[in-house]
Amino acid sequence: MTAVVIDGKAFAAGVREQVAAHVARLKEEHGLTPGLAVVLVGEDPASQVYVRNKGTQTVEVGMTSFEHKLPVDTSEADLLALIARLNADPQVHGILVQLPLPPHLNSELIINTIDPAKDVDGFHISNVGLLGTGQKSMVPCTPLGCLMMLRDHHGKLAGLEAVVVGRSNIVGKPMAQLLLGDSCTVTIAHSRTRDLAEVCRRADILVAAVGRPEMITGDMVKPGATVIDVGINRIERDGKSRLVGDVHTASAAAVAGAITPVPGGVGPMTIACLLANTLTACCRANGLPEPEGLTV
Ligand code: NDP
Repeated sequence: MTAVVIDGKAFAAGVREQVAAHVARLKEEHGLTPGLAVVLVGEDPASQVYVRNKGTQTVEVGMTSFEHKLPVDTSEADLLALIARLNADPQVHGILVQLPLPPHLNSELIINTIDPAKDVDGFHISNVGLLGTGQKSMVPCTPLGCLMMLRDHHGKLAGLEAVVVGRSNIVGKPMAQLLLGDSCTVTIAHSRTRDLAEVCRRADILVAAVGRPEMITGDMVKPGATVIDVGINRIERDGKSRLVGDVHTASAAAVAGAITPVPGGVGPMTIACLLANTLTACCRANGLPEPEGLTV
């Protein structure tokens, strides 16, 4: 079998188009422009690239982008004061604090200071609890993007065996919650899982969110399974620096029914879902119906 490649880049472009169309309607019919504030502390090069991309795409879909770039030695009090101002600002519907923060800042405290209704990353403890209890929440962007692609590929997910490798708060756990919400039978595997290959081979849907280059190989994939590769790992190969996922794409694609590539799979969906979440936050804040298909 040679797997269908799920084109995350094209899918993300479609999501951005839908968001842009909604944003245009919000402006025309309600005089509203969704606003996303991104806060970056320090000068981590990867974070700077992410923040720039977020800003550009926010403007491209017709939203307002507010960028707050703070020096690396910003005090916790100053950062908390900025978040309080953004929480109170009616033009800001979404707030994202770029992680990781410098070590002197308490990330949990800072994230939990964001108004949960504006927490477009879905990391606030209230949103984690709402998602865990099956209530309306802000859903973390990367797992939301994975779910959208899975729903699109499979239609209904009910009854399918899903295995999520990785139990982080930002990917693994919310991914498992979302799959459970769609009535999959969910297993979460992690570094202490015994016989990972055997667990993975049960999966109709296999999500890899580990951070280990190409560790999921074809012999760990059930024939016909859908493989979602969340990993983004930079490696040196043949003297060149390149990005690879957590899945060994060539061997897995020979067995799987469908697979997301790296790059061009899950990655582009993350920012698209951030924009979708900002739109959802704006609609909710103004008592308007939520955009269909862009949230759960
Ligand atoms: P974390 O490091 O927070 O979590 C990794 C998880 O993998 C942990 O739960 C860990 O288990 C598990 N793990 C580690 N080694 C093994 C192993 N040998 N066997 C089984 N499980 C193992 O990573 P994240 O969840 O933040 O990210 C995962 C990957 O996804 C990374 O490559 C990251 O770059 C990428 N990513 C991509 C995004 C995108 O936009 N596409 C967004 C976010 C992340 P344990 O808990 O037991 O230690």
